[in-house]
Amino acid sequence: MLDRVQPLEHGRRVLVLDRADRIGKKILISGGGRCNFTNLHCGAENFLSGNPHFAKSLLARYTPEDFIALVEKHHIPYHEKTLGQLFCDRSARDILEMLEKECSSTGATIFLNTKIQEVKRTTEFVVHTANAEFHAPTLVVATGGLSIPKMGATASGYELARQFGLKIREPWPGLVPFVLSADDRSRYCDLTGLSAEVIASCNGQQFREKMLVTHRGLSGPALLQISSYWKKPQEIQIDLAPGIEMTKNFRDPKTPRTLTTLRSEFRKILPARLADRWLDLHAPASWTNTALADLEQQAHAWTILPSGTEGYEKAEVTAGGVDTDELFAKTMESRKVRGLFFIGEVVDVTGQLGGFNFQWAWASGSAAGQAL
Ligand SMILES: Cc1cc2nc3c(=O)[nH]c(=O)nc-3n(C[C@H](O)[C@H](O)[C@H](O)COP(=O)(O)OP(=O)(O)OC[C@H]3O[C@@H](n4cnc5c(N)ncnc54)[C@H](O)[C@@H]3O)c2cc1C
Repeated sequence: MLDRVQPLEHGRRVLVLDRADRIGKKILISGGGRCNFTNLHCGAENFLSGNPHFAKSLLARYTPEDFIALVEKHHIPYHEKTLGQLFCDRSARDILEMLEKECSSTGATIFLNTKIQEVKRTTEFVVHTANAEFHAPTLVVATGGLSIPKMGATASGYELARQFGLKIREPWPGLVPFVLSADDRSRYCDLTGLSAEVIASCNGQQFREKMLVTHRGLSGPALLQISSYWKKPQEIQIDLAPGIEMTKNFRDPKTPRTLTTLRSEFRKILPARLADRWLDLHAPASWTNTALADLEQQAHAWTILPSGTEGYEKAEVTAGGVDTDELFAKTMESRKVRGLFFIGEVVDVTGQLGGFNFQWAWASGSAAGQAL
């Protein structure tokens, strides 16, 4: 079989083994089918990791501009949507086809439907699949995380790392919708589909973006972002009206202090159904200034105690993974096992929402590629 693997320009022969029937299938479902392939404002602060400094130099060596140059070389039309997020104009297929063309033009060989079952190390790496055995002096592990098991995600990258004595930072689902407690579900979840701009905060992090009510809980970019930083049983705080004093008009003595006026004030700021529901559940105890101040405070600090998240089934990413202490930051090679590299989502470097996870995959892949 290896006879079919052609040498590359610099003499290396590269074989890509993938258990799926096409490489990079997650690209096809990413960014709502348009692939948010990078972010113009990409820095180490956009990533979670046990070592927040680990990714810095690597991200600086392969930048969003490097990937954009590749996209432009392939004449792929794209646009900036918001907050520096770049998406394909047409379809995520453009990015996948570009990567397939790059593999083919550099002479890399791809074997699909080829699940790696076991890896051993003698003087080189011996990779076993169901019906073949491959020998290579170096092995790059890019098996991704546990998200979306129905697309074939498995723990095989973590198992391989453990087998070779590398530490794992226990993985958890990130960029994932929250499930509310039964009480809160009955209070809010009939508002499914409603969205509002909020600030979601937890663990010293905060994100000002949209919140979306789902039939089981809360989602939308603000909640997806904060989910990566959340650990059960922590609380999350939501500011429903960032920067707006909702009861301001009640300082005017001419404003009647009635529920009708209050409702109409809240409806100017929040979506009507949310305004009504909020006041049904948090009607002021009286019309004193103190009671109005309490009402104001509550709306800026809605505290929820989620019962959990939707888990890996719906998580866009897996946080945690191969501990960065185990890897050289310049090359992604294991410090303990020379020739063994880990790149992409399997590593404990997790991007925020907005194209950062792909930029990490490109940057870490490029670093390993140059070191081979
Ligand atoms: C719905 C969704 C939308 C997303 N949208 C975006 C977005 O717009 N922008 C963004 O930056 N990120 C997005 N992400 C995250 C992004 O897709 C991942 O972070 C990225 O794909 C990680 O790349 P990777 O190569 O490390 O792993 P993956 O893309 O998961 O690839 C892993 C590969 O390894 C193969 N594999 C696994 N185990 C084995 C084995 N034992 N043998 C052989 N092959 C194996 C798999 O088949 C797969 O092809 C999204 C994720 C999801 C789920």
